[in-house]
Amino acid sequence: MIRLAIQAKGRLNEETTALLADAGIAVTAGKRKLVARAGGFPMEVLYLRDDDIPQAVAMGVADAGIVGWNEVAERGYDVERAMNLGFGACRLSLAVPRDCGYTGDEWWQGRRVATSYPNVLGRYFGERGIDVEIHEIAGSVEIAPAVGMADAICDIVSSGGTLVQNGLREVATVLQSEAVLIVTPGLGEEKRAEVEKLKFRFGSIIESRGMKYVLMNLPQERLDEAIALLPGMRSPTVLPLAAQGWCSLHVVIAEGELWEKIERLKQLGAEGILVLALENMIR
Ligand code: ATP
Ligand code: MG
Repeated sequence: MIRLAIQAKGRLNEETTALLADAGIAVTAGKRKLVARAGGFPMEVLYLRDDDIPQAVAMGVADAGIVGWNEVAERGYDVERAMNLGFGACRLSLAVPRDCGYTGDEWWQGRRVATSYPNVLGRYFGERGIDVEIHEIAGSVEIAPAVGMADAICDIVSSGGTLVQNGLREVATVLQSEAVLIVTPGLGEEKRAEVEKLKFRFGSIIESRGMKYVLMNLPQERLDEAIALLPGMRSPTVLPLAAQGWCSLHVVIAEGELWEKIERLKQLGAEGILVLALENMIR
């Protein structure tokens, strides 16, 4: 039995629960409880504030946790970053008032920067030998320059809309982040094996997200050209059709390349193209 810490409520909760569900792990129990037994896997789920997850995992109160990399980097606890989970993408960025005459690194010298990430930011400026005054605030960082609390800010950005609304301009990325699976260092053998199972399930799900299963009918004589276009898992599946000179081709295509590939396949004479959702891809 392993204990996994996840965010009780907030931006990561829903996608974390969805990832667990796709991995066959049900965490239906009411979120009012701090700890709940999961279904479909020997696991207990510990619901926490995201701030507390790195510490819980470092202490071994939880054996593993799902949390934003930004929190892990800021807290500085000794945990193993086991895998990136492909959701919760954001970045920790420096932003300055739009008309402040920002020139680059030299602009920062002696400035006051408001942030909720003093440790990550301190390391960033330290590495560059720039002396700034870091002013820690817990929330609403983006209003600090407008109210005269700071010259600039360092905050979490995903689309950048909040910065624009507050008259700020993003000028540098301090840290790239996404949700990660973290694990207690030096976990015992049995628990380690459970964590490996979890990683295998998560890995398969993440890899298959954004992939489509595509079937089409193709003139037999264009098959080699079509195969050259389509790297499948090993090679595409080709099945004979009842109609002479035609075959059925099955292949997995990444969503990002789907339309471009389909256009080229149509040029080769592909017909009756079916695009299906791919639930899971086990290597
Ligand atoms: P908690 O109540 O658990 O302390 P919180 O308010 O600190 O939650 P959330 O706003 O729920 O945190 O964000 C959780 C994580 O979601 C962040 O630490 C970050 O990794 C990720 N994230 C993704 N996009 C954004 C965004 N636009 N703003 C803030 N966080 C984001
Ligand atoms: Mg928090």
